[in-house]
Amino acid sequence: MRIVDFHCDVLSKLLEDESLSFEPGMSGKLDVTHGRLRGQKALLQTFAVYISPSRPDYRSLNPVLESIDLFYEKVLKQSGLRHIRSTADLEACMNQGLTGALLSLEGAGGLQGKLSALRLMHRLGVRAIGFTWNDANWAADGAMEPRGGGLTKQGAAFVKACNELGIIIDVSHLSERAFWDVAALSEKPIIASHSNAKALCDHPRNLSDLQIQAIFESGGVVGVTFVPMFLRADGHAKIEDVLNHMEHFCSLGGEEHVMIGSDFDGIDHYVEGLTHPGELAGLREAMIGRFSKTLTEKIWSGNAVAFLKRNLPAE
Ligand SMILES: [Zn+2]
Repeated sequence: MRIVDFHCDVLSKLLEDESLSFEPGMSGKLDVTHGRLRGQKALLQTFAVYISPSRPDYRSLNPVLESIDLFYEKVLKQSGLRHIRSTADLEACMNQGLTGALLSLEGAGGLQGKLSALRLMHRLGVRAIGFTWNDANWAADGAMEPRGGGLTKQGAAFVKACNELGIIIDVSHLSERAFWDVAALSEKPIIASHSNAKALCDHPRNLSDLQIQAIFESGGVVGVTFVPMFLRADGHAKIEDVLNHMEHFCSLGGEEHVMIGSDFDGIDHYVEGLTHPGELAGLREAMIGRFSKTLTEKIWSGNAVAFLKRNLPAE
């Protein structure tokens, strides 16, 4: 079974340092590399566009467009990769041994509430959007904004537009109130690409049991993430902690809804023995030791594939 990982931030590293490439030989500087993806014949990797708040152009569309250009120029030009825009692309990856590359936005600040910008993102092949990173923007408050506000009027319009365009809404970084606003408004399933369970690790970036169940009931998926601080309070996380969160999701009815959203290249502290995609075999071995083979395959890729088949356009 070939892995699906629904979140990484390698595009943000490529944006910050133009000397970096996605070609072989970058393994000291990047977690996710072409060699590591192809080495394990990964089925799908989501590439998030993340713009650091430290950039002076943080709120503008420019760095978003530059990141998408990097996705096309540096990632997609590598051999064995295919941009996933439709279920036909996904099928091709499954049948031809290719690695699918799904493009997402982690924060929509740069779109400035403009539906024209959202439509362009869709035309450029963006298939998933998280409206905020941790802070607040025109659309909503993020998980670390103390005010804890919900969706704005413009944010609500974006929910509707994403539903109509066929862009998957990712709630991972939203405030709890904005989460519930999106859950109530969206007529399509919602996902949390990289979040863990608050019941096991009480962090604002994690989800309560009620939130997790609401995602499952919507028909969506949740990606267990390898951020040590979201796995256990002391931050000294082991592979066993990743399994504990997977198990908790399953205990809430998530056997068909749990996936993986590593956050590689978005983290500088790692789970012991899980510092880049080349080390995923250790996680898989631990999963097989604790879960049934069927459940392991579902979390490894089956649930994400089934979700995408239901929620990507056919062509
Ligand atoms: Zn994130």
